Amino acid sequence: MRTTPLQKLGTIEGNQLYIKREDLIPFCFGGNKARKAELFFQIIDAGSYDCVVTYGSSSSNHCRVIANMCASRGISCHVIAPAEAFGVSYNQQMMKLYNAEISVVHVSEVHDQIENTIAALKRQGKTPYFIPGGGHGITGTQAYVNCYDEIADYGKTNGTTFDLIFLASGTGTTQAGLICGKLLHHASCDIIGISIARKNPRGRDIVLESVREYMGNQVSLSSIQDSTVFVDEYVTNGYGQTDSAIQETILKVLLTYGIPLDETYTGKAFHGMTEYLKNNQIRGKNVLFIHTGGTPLFFDALRKWDDGK
Ligand SMILES: *Cc1c(COP(=O)(O)O)cnc(C)c1O
Repeated sequence: MRTTPLQKLGTIEGNQLYIKREDLIPFCFGGNKARKAELFFQIIDAGSYDCVVTYGSSSSNHCRVIANMCASRGISCHVIAPAEAFGVSYNQQMMKLYNAEISVVHVSEVHDQIENTIAALKRQGKTPYFIPGGGHGITGTQAYVNCYDEIADYGKTNGTTFDLIFLASGTGTTQAGLICGKLLHHASCDIIGISIARKNPRGRDIVLESVREYMGNQVSLSSIQDSTVFVDEYVTNGYGQTDSAIQETILKVLLTYGIPLDETYTGKAFHGMTEYLKNNQIRGKNVLFIHTGGTPLFFDALRKWDDGK
């Protein structure tokens, strides 16, 4: 894995703003799912697996990257998708290009459908590898421990200390990895997950669980708890839901810095970060935003805006 660019951008609410460009990981529009997928496929390539089963919605960045990874290896990719979250999107169109086999089922049947698909593949003499939705789990966490290493390297090389790191938090794996990295480096920065869907206490509990799973008994529970900040104030009406303030933020960041954000993840998180800095009167700090990718979703938004929807 090459290091992704870390740019000094400008100021935000009286703070210095930096951005880590995970969206520029050079595989299939990058993003945090590409960083996680690279580690999952190290396991797959080292084993004797000949197909992959995973889970995600039609707009899933995770499924797009996994399907492309499978296609590039000539192994089949089986995506289980909940019908409730199945609409037209560029990610879905790309999944079709990669010949992913998509089973759309009612959300309550997802678990059984995953089990059934794995069992059916085994009966056909295949060896499937299962990747949890969003790349959740210890492998996904490891990917973002590695990302924190890159951030620490940048800090050392440039004499920069980041006071706050913000990111869009969904399954919480990305945030958990960054928190573990921070704990392993004994750094004092605050890692603030802006929830894109989940509410507390559940949202934060899942991040905590991932950190504990990775760290084992290396650090105390209280330092893990102190390090886990999961902000659920900016989710609007839930996953994928947007509002005019988020849209204005996306436009402003695009016009000012030439960086595309999306409505579901990065635009919502960037807007949440701005509000959080303002509402907590944080000034004069070094603030790092993790651009977790999702570029195809930027184009979904653009198409929607263009249609006047
Ligand atoms: C999946 C995703 C996230 C959330 O990552 P988690 O590890 O699930 O919290 C954030 N941003 C983008 C663009 C994503 O695709």
